[in-house]
Amino acid sequence: MKLYLDPGHGGNDPGAVGNGLQEKEIVLDLALKIKDMLRSYPNAKVKLSRDRDEKKSLIARTNEANDWGADIFLSLHCNAFNGKARGYEDFIYNNLPANAAARNHQAVLHQKVSSAIDLPDRGQKQANFHVLRESNMPAILTENGFIDHPEDAKLMKQESWREKVAAAHVEGLVEIFKLTKTDRSSYSVIAGSFQLRKNASERIRFLQSQNISSKIKEISINGNLVHRVLAGEFSNRKDAEFQLKRLASIGIEAFIIAEK
Ligand SMILES: [Zn+2]
Repeated sequence: MKLYLDPGHGGNDPGAVGNGLQEKEIVLDLALKIKDMLRSYPNAKVKLSRDRDEKKSLIARTNEANDWGADIFLSLHCNAFNGKARGYEDFIYNNLPANAAARNHQAVLHQKVSSAIDLPDRGQKQANFHVLRESNMPAILTENGFIDHPEDAKLMKQESWREKVAAAHVEGLVEIFKLTKTDRSSYSVIAGSFQLRKNASERIRFLQSQNISSKIKEISINGNLVHRVLAGEFSNRKDAEFQLKRLASIGIEAFIIAEK
């Protein structure tokens, strides 16, 4: 599955604002979370319209998705209505042929997201939005709460809620595209590679002095023996990344090797 993931707005266009929040920031956070979660699915490729706070035109977004040949265009937004409305809703283009895949995709995604994110369900909708109209693939736009409503905004401020929203989008994609997880991946953290065993041992002693346990793993690279210092094997990437940060904080530049 090639997902073109589009956090709306950015740069000098904040999108909707309210309660100290900006739409461009909430949706970017959601997009980065979705991308991260999809890393466990080897058949999911993700291209972001933006991975930082930058301006990008709507035409540039749809052109990019079309040129890339995405299987789905998913645009993330938050709503606003003078503090008078709340809830979740999603949109597909309002002029689709009756059998368009976007309808089915919307039904699946809507069910997953609306049931999981603690917001009133405003329904499955259709609209003539640029990103829905100009993309060559099925396109869906989700409006994840009203930023100018105090109750919705309170949720948006919670990391745990944003995780939930991202996870619900992922669940929808998993069902639509029948994605399966990599089974039993392992992530090894390598805190140094040395030709000489004594140098590897020295690294291990240093790590020990910092309460990090490690061991030597011998491998052969192009016929040369290398002593790797293995500072942990983890079943999920987040834990391995945490270890990486811990090592960085004591001045050790480590890296992760992911294996199936
Ligand atoms: Zn928006």
